[in-house]
Amino acid sequence: MSWRRSSVVERRTHKPYVGGSNPSAATSPPIKVRIMGKSVYLDYAATTPVDREAYKAMCPYLSDKFGNPSSVHRRGQEAKKALDGARIKAAELLNCKPEEIVFTSGGTESDNLALRGVMGGARKTKRNHLIVSKIEHPAALKTAEALEKSGFEVDYLPVDKEGIIRIDELEKLIRKETALVSIIYANNEIGTIQPIKEISKLIKEKNSETLFHTDATQAFNYLDCNVERLGVDLLSLSGQKLYGPKGVGLLYIKQGTKVTPVQTGGEHEMGKRAGTENIPGIVGMAKAMELVAEKREEESRRLQELRNKLIEGIRASIKGAFLSGSFTNRLCNNLNFCFSGVEGEALVMSLDVKGIMGSSGSACSSAKLEPSYVLAALGIPQELAQGSLRLTLGRNTTAEDIDYVLEVLPEVVERLRSISAIG
Ligand SMILES: *Cc1c(COP(=O)(O)O)cnc(C)c1O
Repeated sequence: MSWRRSSVVERRTHKPYVGGSNPSAATSPPIKVRIMGKSVYLDYAATTPVDREAYKAMCPYLSDKFGNPSSVHRRGQEAKKALDGARIKAAELLNCKPEEIVFTSGGTESDNLALRGVMGGARKTKRNHLIVSKIEHPAALKTAEALEKSGFEVDYLPVDKEGIIRIDELEKLIRKETALVSIIYANNEIGTIQPIKEISKLIKEKNSETLFHTDATQAFNYLDCNVERLGVDLLSLSGQKLYGPKGVGLLYIKQGTKVTPVQTGGEHEMGKRAGTENIPGIVGMAKAMELVAEKREEESRRLQELRNKLIEGIRASIKGAFLSGSFTNRLCNNLNFCFSGVEGEALVMSLDVKGIMGSSGSACSSAKLEPSYVLAALGIPQELAQGSLRLTLGRNTTAEDIDYVLEVLPEVVERLRSISAIG
């Protein structure tokens, strides 16, 4: 007893472990996490691992080069140089000017800044109308709902059964008061790709004052994100979806676009986003963007081949499996099946036991049992939507992984059906 007590005291007086050789090893052995057998991560739409090169680029800014870019001295200017370099790199990759990039804390903040910033500025001009699609990510959709509650007029644009927005409906909805249209480039649940160029053309024809924002968070890895070619005024990205770190993102804001800041504070980011910049995160994100862009086409082809093999294999081996969304206008790394008579959450958990990590609906809403609003917008009946499974492939996915899923999934679906209460 006395020995124990003294050892606790001793532990408390230990200095906190700050890396290097492990001085606290004698008192607190490292926790061992053993992953048994297979580990097949197929949830790249939820998040991606940080690229090794991006990680290495970040490291100095997490240690020696810790300066605040707003400081005048050399330590600050070192950080400022890294920030400027990352901004130039990101701008090149989006084909815009460096001053048009505002770094944020992620996709959620970028969407908030786009919607709240534009609508907040438009309020003074009495242009109080916002249009969003019904299948936006919650970061944009919930923001639109909040704006509606605070007095803005919001229209929710329907999609067809493949998840493509109804462009005829959009044409009808745009009017004199429409300040902003926000449409997700590629959907996070079903991977449906919207015809962004066509949409931007239509918007400008109908009302040259109306701004166009797209959430390109899922699109950047595989699709053209040249803002000039797309014809967008604002575009959101998140670092963690493109093999960069979490907690960093960016918003492209076309020069001359009026965006009122959402948070008040210092004059960071051209006065559009107060708060000391996340230098390691920003450096890592810009590096990750560069690496993605270098291999975009090659990697897209590779993943599309693997993904199609998986789709065909599932169709051939499991009855009552329905691919939701579009087959052709779809991200090359995404598949989303609804299995009749199965509960999606149970499916995800059973697959996890076998080492396969996927998701049902979007990761953000998967804590709730209600079926996905995205699948509902496609007109998929609730009972079927409950059995949805999203698998998203990425950089570490191999042909072996796909074979393993095709070996395991049919058994798992069959077993769940045999014990399920759903029809
Ligand atoms: C993940 C995601 C977001 C949110 O990004 P965070 O970095 O989590 O804030 C926004 N939009 C889409 C389409 C996403 O996939």
